[in-house]
Amino acid sequence: MSAMIQSIDANTAGAEHELTDGFHLIIDALKLNGVKTIYGVPGIPITDFGRMAQAEGIRVISFRHEQHAGNAAAIAGFLTKRPGICLTVSAPGFLNGLTALANATTNCFPMILISGSSEREIVDLQQGDYEEMDQLAIAKPLCKAAFRVLHAADIGIGVARAIRAAVSGRPGGVYLDLPAKLFGQVMDAEAGANSLVEVIDPAPAQLPAPGAVKRALDVLKGAKRPLIILGKGAAYAQADDQIRALIEKSGVPFLPMSMAKGLLPDTHPQCAGAARSTVLKDSDVVMLIGARLNWLLSHGKGKTWGDAPKKFIQIDIEPKEMDSNVEIAAPLVGDIGSCVSALLEGIGDTWQAPPSDWIDAVNSKREENIAKMAPRLMKNSAPMDFHGALGVLRTVIRERPDAILVNEGANTLDLARGIIDMYQPRKRLDVGTWGVMGIGMGFAVAAAIETGKPVLAVEGDSAFGFSGMEVETICRYNLPVCVVVFNNNGIYRGTDANPTGGTDAATTVFVKDARYDKMMEAFGGVGVHVTTPDELKRAVDTAIDSGKPTLVNAAIDPAAGSESGRIGNLNPQSILKKK
Ligand code: ADP
Ligand code: MG
Repeated sequence: MSAMIQSIDANTAGAEHELTDGFHLIIDALKLNGVKTIYGVPGIPITDFGRMAQAEGIRVISFRHEQHAGNAAAIAGFLTKRPGICLTVSAPGFLNGLTALANATTNCFPMILISGSSEREIVDLQQGDYEEMDQLAIAKPLCKAAFRVLHAADIGIGVARAIRAAVSGRPGGVYLDLPAKLFGQVMDAEAGANSLVEVIDPAPAQLPAPGAVKRALDVLKGAKRPLIILGKGAAYAQADDQIRALIEKSGVPFLPMSMAKGLLPDTHPQCAGAARSTVLKDSDVVMLIGARLNWLLSHGKGKTWGDAPKKFIQIDIEPKEMDSNVEIAAPLVGDIGSCVSALLEGIGDTWQAPPSDWIDAVNSKREENIAKMAPRLMKNSAPMDFHGALGVLRTVIRERPDAILVNEGANTLDLARGIIDMYQPRKRLDVGTWGVMGIGMGFAVAAAIETGKPVLAVEGDSAFGFSGMEVETICRYNLPVCVVVFNNNGIYRGTDANPTGGTDAATTVFVKDARYDKMMEAFGGVGVHVTTPDELKRAVDTAIDSGKPTLVNAAIDPAAGSESGRIGNLNPQSILKKK
């Protein structure tokens, strides 16, 4: 909607014509392209922009720190396949948001970081403006694309380019730089409306070549011990029915990466999640669907993958991803929906299920591992260990499969990923490709806002600290978020001692027996302190039933937990380290 402004221009004196300005054109451009929510932190020069966007019907969610607003936008992008929008002030606010933008790009989440910036003339001459910084130059290497708009008449094109860049091909983060002066620029309303661009088909289907589909099927057909690995790209693609059909029709065991859990239920008879080491080691043909052979899959080689020779089939929208670490025998480049549909069509009705000795081997390993784990999950003792506490949270998600699980930490992350079964697509949101800490509250806020579903955030005490202040945001918007802090008094463990015997705490320990639940109470939410799995279950059930913002401080044995969780092997070792 443009503002009716009476012209005071000398040339048109006496005449009344409608004008619009940068503020309104940006809002109109976003609305025209279906943007319903903006995540951000107000301040110079975008305070009024946020107010006006709210007045014009966009939901504007204000955070306490830009990194969390940025993480919220990024995960909104993952959940909806539309770019999540983050709005920040110049220089420091922009830099805070940039961490989230870089993380979004690394994870292939579509997001647009819109930052106000200082005046070009002063920045370019380095004359020392308020929050002076060449933001565009700094953003460029950390995102998929970066644009700056200098003239109101270019706002439509600028927003359109940002949207298309974020969601087409491999999704990622886009930076849009809006210098302060742009917001107040005035132009004729009709010309302004005509300058806006509605992005038609922002993420066009990309069909795989028929020869590539046949090659992939031939490789899969020749397999004696096939495996399908589902990555978060498969979850993002929202091709849930086709993926399920392909897996069930082919009869191939599947292994979900962390955020692909629930694409098919973890309890599905073909799920090899509980036989991960076996299937990676012993498979002979591996089909990757929206998963990269990066560190999370040991780069496709080495001990994890065993000695058996392997052939890889890889489905990805990004051609450059092929051969990133090992040879890909059958690259299938295209969007996952189109690729999987083409495979389904080509598979025909004469498809032979994989040899039964392979299926039996996977199943018996799975049952063995599940049986081994079961008693540890039922321990109802105080102090709790990770397994006892996670055992009840596993039941919570089984009973409420539509709840969204946000998860970060070290042991809290690694153990929850294995223990908590997921049943529906895009319900598990976690630290992703970088294994980054600090996504917790930003992801939780956006998950609640974008889906309207209850959110359970399972957080290590250290991980929670990165975004903990956003519990105020959760309370302010009265979101149905239950945060569980696994409080073992420190990073990895709470038992380390200062090697000098001095009074400073050891580098990895926090205040002993801290009461994170009081933080939620400070803002009007519900705080609960629990010491046993039974109490934990009751507290979380009550929280989700009530829909009230809740923080459950779950006291975990400070001695429980191992260094760096499951990735302690990534720590460099010193030969001079003192015992
Ligand atoms: P994970 O960490 O779960 O293994 P990754 O983030 O490593 O997942 O991999 C996701 C992959 O999915 C990326 O290589 C990305 O290019 C790809 N991808 C994302 N969306 C699509 C899509 N719609 N179609 C095809 N590939 C996609
Ligand atoms: Mg801890």
